[in-house]
Amino acid sequence: MTSITNELRRQVIERAGNCCEYCLLSQDDNFFSFHIDHIISEKHGGVTESHNLSLSCPNCNTFKGSDIGSIDSQTGLLTPLFNPRLQQWVKHFHLGNGMIEPLTPEGRVTVFLLRLNQADRVFERQELMSLGRYPCPTKGYFEA
Ligand SMILES: [Zn+2]
Repeated sequence: MTSITNELRRQVIERAGNCCEYCLLSQDDNFFSFHIDHIISEKHGGVTESHNLSLSCPNCNTFKGSDIGSIDSQTGLLTPLFNPRLQQWVKHFHLGNGMIEPLTPEGRVTVFLLRLNQADRVFERQELMSLGRYPCPTKGYFEA
């Protein structure tokens, strides 16, 4: 594992607006520090450079692990995960009452693999929505 400099970490956090770039949770609302995610894991040749890094909450990052794709339930095809550097969140997901609904094959495999709609996570989002604290105003969400 290549170490990530403090400067690179700061850049990734700032670019993400302190939000998980997969589930749009704010680091401010999480007890545990967010992770710097290698979008393409080092295991698959991904580099430790800004264009391959994203900010990820511990849940998303743990479920993602070193995976870069999964089998799409509708097409049966091996499909890459949503890439927050190359793709826009709003084109791949729709947020409905705490549920993250996939709009594309990439969205479907990401919802599935990262367990974005696990009951406790949906409940947490609904609670944060009622407080006006979700979704986190990440750049990718609002740039439609
Ligand atoms: Zn997340």
